[in-house]
Amino acid sequence: MTASLQELSVPGPTVTALTEPFWEAVKSGRLMIQHCDSCERSVFYPRAICPHCWVDALTWTEASGRGKLKSFSQVWKPGHPGWIPATPYLVGLVELSEGPTMLSHILTEGAQVAVGDALHFAPTQIGDRILPCFKMG
Ligand SMILES: [Zn+2]
Repeated sequence: MTASLQELSVPGPTVTALTEPFWEAVKSGRLMIQHCDSCERSVFYPRAICPHCWVDALTWTEASGRGKLKSFSQVWKPGHPGWIPATPYLVGLVELSEGPTMLSHILTEGAQVAVGDALHFAPTQIGDRILPCFKMG
């Protein structure tokens, strides 16, 4: 990575009424996911109805922030030119310890990564926003 993430000028997330609790929690350093009060399974990304049992009984709960790397890719040609100064960077699928998988920026700090590596939630300032990222360990 050649540029500081704080210096980037990149588009932010599209926040909706459904996703606002997730994004507001990230700003304060917390990872919130939904939990189904009917089938007791965790859900991510935010939805109105549980994808496992189709009941509309989802409650926001704080996740542990722990997970493992399920897959990853090094990005050399980002989808938005604002990310070019930060290339190459890593994005990965993080299998949360609660079960769901989320796509995230992975902060490697120069370390080699491998599928199965332990990760922890690390909200990070990117441009003028705090965005959800994960770090090794
Ligand atoms: Zn359910």
